[in-house]
Amino acid sequence: MSSPSVHGASLAVGDFEITHVRYGLYRWDGGALFGVVPKTLWSRKAAADDLNRIELAFNCYLVRTRDHTILIETGCGDKLDMRARARMDLPPDAEPLTSVIARHGFDPESIDIVINSHLHWDHCGGNTILTGGTHSGPARPAFPRARYVASRPEWEHAHERLARDGISYIDTNYDPLVESGQMALVEGDYEVAPDIWMRRAPGHNRDMMVITVASGGETFCFLSDLVPTEAHVQPTWVAAFDLCPLECIESKTRWLTAAAEGAWQCAFGHDAKMPFARILPDPKTGFTAAPL
Ligand SMILES: [Zn+2]
Repeated sequence: MSSPSVHGASLAVGDFEITHVRYGLYRWDGGALFGVVPKTLWSRKAAADDLNRIELAFNCYLVRTRDHTILIETGCGDKLDMRARARMDLPPDAEPLTSVIARHGFDPESIDIVINSHLHWDHCGGNTILTGGTHSGPARPAFPRARYVASRPEWEHAHERLARDGISYIDTNYDPLVESGQMALVEGDYEVAPDIWMRRAPGHNRDMMVITVASGGETFCFLSDLVPTEAHVQPTWVAAFDLCPLECIESKTRWLTAAAEGAWQCAFGHDAKMPFARILPDPKTGFTAAPL
């Protein structure tokens, strides 16, 4: 697997500093990522291997303000079995996110807020660590000092375990934190810390949140799986696993218009090569992304 050298890129947003923490590269079926878009088109953007998989990343971001160190997303974590990990071209054992963060030069103990855009396993898997060795035992918080924040309607949906998307949820990633009171479940748009917001952006699923960080007239926006990779800035390029495709097109158009007009610095849930991007209007495709 290739390893692009985008690891730990940082940028300033007003008085805040944002650092990209890539919690591993993996491979996933390209058809699942691009839905009805023909492979003849998407393969120009993302090369597929002989199993039709494209390279993706678990993108997390650290936001440092004067008063807080905030982690957005915690990636895949340690709950998947070896077969699932092999299918995704992941190493058999997961490195704890805390050591990935330490390698970036940050003390994981300094993290006082953890935000999950939604509760799919690939966004909150590093919230907790299994204490029984490989893939077993009770889960303990990976960030004991932190207040975790997620959407209550999303958490309720996770427990519905519907046939279509029940497989996306692993309860040990969040329920121990909810039970201990360490995870706050919030209704709708919510200001996590001054000028740092979670805002509902339906499409990928009903209650996924995008995260905006504003300071000194500048804005950073983590688009999560509303726009999983740079290729998905074209509003109609919707993943096959997005639960509400029409709403996804609508939400994407709304958020990317704001991002382009405001010259926001944006980030995608799973892009392996572009940790930060500017969104530009495009007469043909709606939008394009330019690396920052
Ligand atoms: Zn995802």
